[in-house]
Amino acid sequence: MADRPKILRTVTSLRRTLEPYRRARQALALVPTMGALHEGHLKLVREARKKARRVVVSIFVNPTQFAPTEDFGSYPRTFDADVKALAALKVDAVWAPTAAEMYPEGFATRVAPEGAALAGLEDKFRPHFFGGVATVVTKLFTQVRPDIALFGQKDYQQLRVVTQMASDLDLGVKVIGIPTVREKDGLALSSRNVYLSEAERAAAPVLSRVLKACAARIKRGEPIEMVMEEGASEISRASFKLDYLEARHAKTLKPIASAKDGPIRLLVAAKIGKTRLIDNLGV
Ligand code: AMP
Repeated sequence: MADRPKILRTVTSLRRTLEPYRRARQALALVPTMGALHEGHLKLVREARKKARRVVVSIFVNPTQFAPTEDFGSYPRTFDADVKALAALKVDAVWAPTAAEMYPEGFATRVAPEGAALAGLEDKFRPHFFGGVATVVTKLFTQVRPDIALFGQKDYQQLRVVTQMASDLDLGVKVIGIPTVREKDGLALSSRNVYLSEAERAAAPVLSRVLKACAARIKRGEPIEMVMEEGASEISRASFKLDYLEARHAKTLKPIASAKDGPIRLLVAAKIGKTRLIDNLGV
């Protein structure tokens, strides 16, 4: 039986736990999550284990990145199972602050990312989202002070925003992006997949299938605009309400008209029933 990781609920206990690691100059990796851990998260943790002597996983469902109409209240919470999975991967500590510890009475500061955070993708449909993410990730980085932090490419715009922010604010953390873990039929693993009904789950792989087909066609030299339009129709035919399917510059996330202006990243977001899914793929 692996040792249970230390479960830390206050900034004081976090600092006390991490101090000896720092004094011993042991490299520290942070994997930020909102819990409800699946194989995608665990891949991040395994990569962290390979790259650093000490691994901290944060589990915090961050209220400030949810709009009042979103699923903060019903977001899946599986803390005991999460800790068990992290123990098996020999994680050193789980940083699981309460909302009151993270945002005490009177909290009045917000980090406002620009650039990729205003690309007109997730930000267009979740205007509060990247401000909430940037603020909580800044706090996580300054609380834990890791050498590296691992994020999934699954949330591609978020990865770009956090990478830029860490650099702009000299946070001293190297942000590492890890490829998306998928089900056998291509559906990207997500904590929100548990919301899908059987019929919705059967329809869901259309997103990754369309991304793959569009990437192949663009690579063959077909015009991006036409490829994207046909991909969008296919997604809508599969009973999804499409928020966006776009070809963007992989780094800046600016719109891209021709493959020669690349590298290109295709990004999609769509709703099926009450569940909103996102995915993306490099060309
Ligand atoms: P979340 O708990 O959804 O906020 O995700 C925590 C981290 O896990 C983020 O960096 C996500 O991008 C990453 N992640 C989520 N799903 C996957 C996946 N299917 N493959 C790889 N990383 C993922």
